[in-house]
Amino acid sequence: MTGKLMLSANKRHVLDALDIPRWQLRQTEAVIEPVARPQSGLESPSKPMVADIPVDRPLPGNGSPDPTVVASPSIDELNWSDLYQRVAGCHACGLSQQRTQTVFGVGDQSADWLIVGEAPGQEEDQRGEPFVGRAGQLLDNMLQAIGLARSQVYITNIVKCRPPGNRDPHVDERDACRGYLKRQIALLRPKIIVVVGRVAAHALLETEEAVGKLRGGEFNYGTSEIPLVVTYHPAYLLRSPSEKSKAWSDLCFARERYNAVLAKG
Ligand code: SF4
Repeated sequence: MTGKLMLSANKRHVLDALDIPRWQLRQTEAVIEPVARPQSGLESPSKPMVADIPVDRPLPGNGSPDPTVVASPSIDELNWSDLYQRVAGCHACGLSQQRTQTVFGVGDQSADWLIVGEAPGQEEDQRGEPFVGRAGQLLDNMLQAIGLARSQVYITNIVKCRPPGNRDPHVDERDACRGYLKRQIALLRPKIIVVVGRVAAHALLETEEAVGKLRGGEFNYGTSEIPLVVTYHPAYLLRSPSEKSKAWSDLCFARERYNAVLAKG
């Protein structure tokens, strides 16, 4: 099974990279006041999603159905390959205008662990892969610290195109892209979701709470039983290295919740 915890030969090196004192290996997660679990709109069928609208479908001139047009399947029917192609051709929001390419996601498509960030940055936009560069290296170290290689998880963002100037994606852009992440999760069926950073946490939990207050909360994804854990974005940790120990606690918490899922069978 993918995503299983493994022993890391260079754990000391990894912990040093995270500025984690080695004695913390025995530490359990920080005790943080859980907050009430909000309901995510991702499961709500009442909320229309722009990304549910098939792209490149001709619109009939008089507003009535065109019998010559074969409707594209909805996003909820797509397999991995077709979903990738749908995203690659998507122009459902303005972020399509300045992207070099879409950044779909990377990793094991049967992974137990899903990591969700905010949006591609400049380097991700150039390379077509999420979490590359220094933030990506730190994420890799964070994963290694809990016994996971990058190849054992699946990594994606809430929006698949780079916002200009690396600004936060706007709400309408997040909503436009929401259906793609929802379908990725449905295909992946992860056993745990780790959400990194404020913007992704706000989008998935539909809250405005600070990450500091969301950490340690026993959330689930939408109405599902998939545990969802919030932690800081690696880019933030690079700017605020003193917070790395909190991220380590969050990952220990995630590991505990994952182990609990496995124990349930
Ligand atoms: S961000 Fe998402 S919805 Fe917007 S154009 Fe890119 S793939 Fe489409």
